Amino acid sequence: MKRLKNNTDLKSYSCQNQDCIMYNIMNKRNIKVHMRYGKNKDIRLLKCNECGVMFSERINTYLSEVRIDERLVKDILELLANGKSIRKISRLVGVSKNAVLRLKKKLNII
Ligand SMILES: [Zn+2]
Repeated sequence: MKRLKNNTDLKSYSCQNQDCIMYNIMNKRNIKVHMRYGKNKDIRLLKCNECGVMFSERINTYLSEVRIDERLVKDILELLANGKSIRKISRLVGVSKNAVLRLKKKLNII
């Protein structure tokens, strides 16, 4: 079984609620893991203990709102860079065409 990420990196996250007094302030121990989601339960939903707002650890990263495994994302990026079609990538990687399209759009790849 894949070892789940430990939570020592939480200090690099900050509250994403602009009305919160902890907004964008890192390393204050107000961010906790609320739950894990995604196909392999490897994406953490974080919660600010100050205001109660929850957000994905992928917020503000290129993986925000993308529920594809990070390892697969790298494969998809490589295939896109190699000029493979969405249909082919979908088949090779085993994700839906829509997922590939969403990722492509998200990353602004044309
Ligand atoms: Zn907050």
